[in-house]
Amino acid sequence: MRTVDIVVPCYNEAEMLEMFHEKVSQVVGKIPGYEFTFYLVDDGSRDETLSIMERLAEKDKRVKYISFSRNFGKESAMYAGLKATTGDLVVIIDADLQHPPELIPEMLKAIDEEGYDTCSARRVSREGGPKIRSWFARAFYRLINRMSEVEIVDGAVDFRMMNRAMVDAILELPEVQRFSKGIFSWVGFKTKWIEFKNIERIAGETKWSFWSLLKYAISGITAFTTVPLRLATVCGVTISVSAFIYLMIELIKNLVT
Ligand code: UDP
Ligand code: MG
Repeated sequence: MRTVDIVVPCYNEAEMLEMFHEKVSQVVGKIPGYEFTFYLVDDGSRDETLSIMERLAEKDKRVKYISFSRNFGKESAMYAGLKATTGDLVVIIDADLQHPPELIPEMLKAIDEEGYDTCSARRVSREGGPKIRSWFARAFYRLINRMSEVEIVDGAVDFRMMNRAMVDAILELPEVQRFSKGIFSWVGFKTKWIEFKNIERIAGETKWSFWSLLKYAISGITAFTTVPLRLATVCGVTISVSAFIYLMIELIKNLVT
């Protein structure tokens, strides 16, 4: 029996959580030969998310949960979830059903039959989202891919299954400002990409404002490229050199006249 852990970052997902649990249970219930465990991570929710987790854990022995003292952000929730897992395979998935659980069997096949270490989902259309947001997202991917050595795939989402070796490699990274999309790529490993069409949220709302996304994008850029640093160095050197030349010119002028 292979064990698979399902890591779910949850922030204010009271409206979605039961539906999510039911849907995923349905999907994984049909997969023989694997034992699944849910690791629900409550990222300091202010709604009923935690009490729903407690209820689910009572009802379903496969459900475990972690609760944060405050909202630390999705990256921290994913990290804590991964750290708690012990299974042979781990899949990270959003609680809002925007990541179709129907892809889980395909992910299992990629790793256990086709010899990949990890299988990740890629959203191929951004239909439904605000236009300006998808424009910024595309610009971000172009920018970060041009500047950094790790490749960050456009449309890649944090819906990914990994084997234990990859999970351990990720957990070894002591990054504080985590940018998982970059980390998944940076650790290497043989990756299979599977595509899916954008799905709208059924209930609840997105936790990302434009500004929080922009901040996240900047943390991704500073974590995976030294270009901004090099740029600052070049600017600094240019200014110092010009100041020095100017000083010399002024000195000589003074001496001559
Ligand atoms: N999430 C989280 N902490 C946060 C924000 C979001 O754990 O501070 C979770 C959220 O509950 C969901 C996933 O991360 O399961 C993705 O969030 P969301 O659906 O808001 O993002 P979007 O799909 O709009 O990119
Ligand atoms: Mg979502």
